Amino acid sequence: MSLFSINNIDANLFAKIMENDYILSIDEIEKYKIPLGRNALEIPEKMVCPYCGDIKEQRGIVNPFKGLEVMKWSTELHCDCEGFKHAKMQEEQERLLELKRIEREQEEKKRKEVIRRCNIHAEFQDKNFNTFQITSENMPIFNTINKYIENIDKALRRGKGLYIFGDCGVGKTHLAVAMAHELINKEIDTLFSTVTEYLNSIKSTFNGDGESEEIRDIYSNVEVLILDDIGKENATSWSAEEVFALIDSRYRNCKTTIYTSNFTLEELKNIYEKSKKYTGKSIESRLYEKNVQLNLRGMDYRKHKF
Ligand SMILES: [Zn+2]
Repeated sequence: MSLFSINNIDANLFAKIMENDYILSIDEIEKYKIPLGRNALEIPEKMVCPYCGDIKEQRGIVNPFKGLEVMKWSTELHCDCEGFKHAKMQEEQERLLELKRIEREQEEKKRKEVIRRCNIHAEFQDKNFNTFQITSENMPIFNTINKYIENIDKALRRGKGLYIFGDCGVGKTHLAVAMAHELINKEIDTLFSTVTEYLNSIKSTFNGDGESEEIRDIYSNVEVLILDDIGKENATSWSAEEVFALIDSRYRNCKTTIYTSNFTLEELKNIYEKSKKYTGKSIESRLYEKNVQLNLRGMDYRKHKF
């Protein structure tokens, strides 16, 4: 008794069905003599709209590919009154808010994951202030760094960081890791990374997954960034620009950055300047303004006081 097939449906009816997302009222179903499918033989009870009190008939969902029959009845109330529309709108807004919340949660998870990945390698786990070997030579710097961490809130407000430089093996990385531990214990968002790791993680996104902006964003915005061994990376004009962009972004946002390096600030300037003109001078001026220079054998108090 199927009167319709996709070939001989009345064009107006088909347009109407399409327009309604294949949902028709009982009146329409009767008017167009649309047959009831196997799972829709019983016409369901009417419903009362809780917003306007109108009695509403259920609507049928039509399957246009199966001889055009009522496939099933919708179990949801539908009403055209303001109350119903308002409630639907609110439902939709709540759904969007929930989606946004989930999205934010996932972003936060991703951000934490990047931080966790880059943060303190396993072999550094035991490097803290207690395991640092204090000598008469490094004692002043050690004390300065401890004082800096004690007063970190003040430093964070002014975006003040440290530039710890000195020869290989004097314990710069040990102190940087120890600081990271202390800051994390104080629940300050801290990312510990080498410049090489930063550049590599940007490069690893070049295969087209488009996440390099995310990585730049995380490094630019983390509360404290500890960049170990700046100047030691394989400097190219690209890497010099990337490093400058990161430093500049943190400088402009008044974010605290702690550096360790084998080079004096002057040497660092020359390294970057050679790779890409202007980057060296710009990096130097920003670091000079925001970072206390500590030579892990003596220190430079020319410009800063705690
Ligand atoms: Zn209503």
